Amino acid sequence: MKVTPLGLYCEPGGFFIDPSRPVDRAVVSHGHADHARPGHKAVLATPDTLAIMRARFGEDRAGDVQEPLAYGESVTRNGVRITLLPAGHVLGSAQVALEWKGSRIVVSGDYKRRRDPTCAGFEPMECDVFVTEATFALPVFRHPPDAHEIRRLLDSVALFPERAHVVGAYALGKTQRIIALLREAGWDRPVYLHGAVEKLCTLYEELGVPLGDLRPVPKGLKRGHPPILPGEIVIAPPSAEATPWARRLAEPVTCAASGWMTVRQRARLRGVELPLIVSDHADWDELLQTMEDVRAPEVWVTHGRDDALVHALGLRGIRGRALHLVGRGDEEDDGAPEAPPTAEEAAGVAPGPAN
Ligand SMILES: [Zn+2]
Ligand SMILES: [Zn+2]
Repeated sequence: MKVTPLGLYCEPGGFFIDPSRPVDRAVVSHGHADHARPGHKAVLATPDTLAIMRARFGEDRAGDVQEPLAYGESVTRNGVRITLLPAGHVLGSAQVALEWKGSRIVVSGDYKRRRDPTCAGFEPMECDVFVTEATFALPVFRHPPDAHEIRRLLDSVALFPERAHVVGAYALGKTQRIIALLREAGWDRPVYLHGAVEKLCTLYEELGVPLGDLRPVPKGLKRGHPPILPGEIVIAPPSAEATPWARRLAEPVTCAASGWMTVRQRARLRGVELPLIVSDHADWDELLQTMEDVRAPEVWVTHGRDDALVHALGLRGIRGRALHLVGRGDEEDDGAPEAPPTAEEAAGVAPGPAN
């Protein structure tokens, strides 16, 4: 396995994993833009990830040859055995396990360990080398239970029935997870969607993830139309919350669902009134738990707070290596590449939820 400017390259197998530019042969861990790119010749991925790529890039840009591989099944390429395992990150997300000449490396892509009603849960596999992300690899990042955060949202809706609540969530994964968590919390009213998050909700439902009554936010209102959707929940990409689009809504309460909401300064900077800490990435405890579960003597860290994680691994006798993969972003902030939190930001972290 080599680190190249395009990303991880499996030399004996002749394929890249999540390459940043079009290549002949790619294995794609999941559909987020910093992992799945259009224009590859051959793409091996889970059937759900291929469906997501077709929906995002168009039928003709999602790989000339698409090779679906279900979780737990294996194929061999030039003597390298490839197995995909659930990563628990978004629908279709997979860890890529590679076996060659008696050793095993697992490339986790992005992952989380807590339950997510919209995708299969992470399955740890013991390996010789584990490749991990480190987006939230600081001890200050301990994501509270999702149900707690959803309850805070519903409490606010009850408290301000005259206002619309707009939850900023990225289109793939977070949007559908928030809706599913709302349904589990008993919210059976319609959930209103910004146009940018509609398509993937439809696809999730087609792929067997029920989301209940979803409706588009009404468009084409006449000038002077009274503000709409008081008492309702609207989901929109984070970038839409501060645009004229939001002005049609009744005194919108700006909410954001992201692991970054642990950092108060970020919430303030983005003008978020109700920060919800709901993340599709492992927090500090989940990262360390995973290192324990996979029992790898060596761990490679792709991006994020690799310094903190490599240090923590060293204390546990695990050899850590920072790969500094370029182009890995953080879809929690609307797909924009995201710098790890600064020391100042980390110091301004909000206290844990009051219980
Ligand atoms: Zn991702
Ligand atoms: Zn990512």
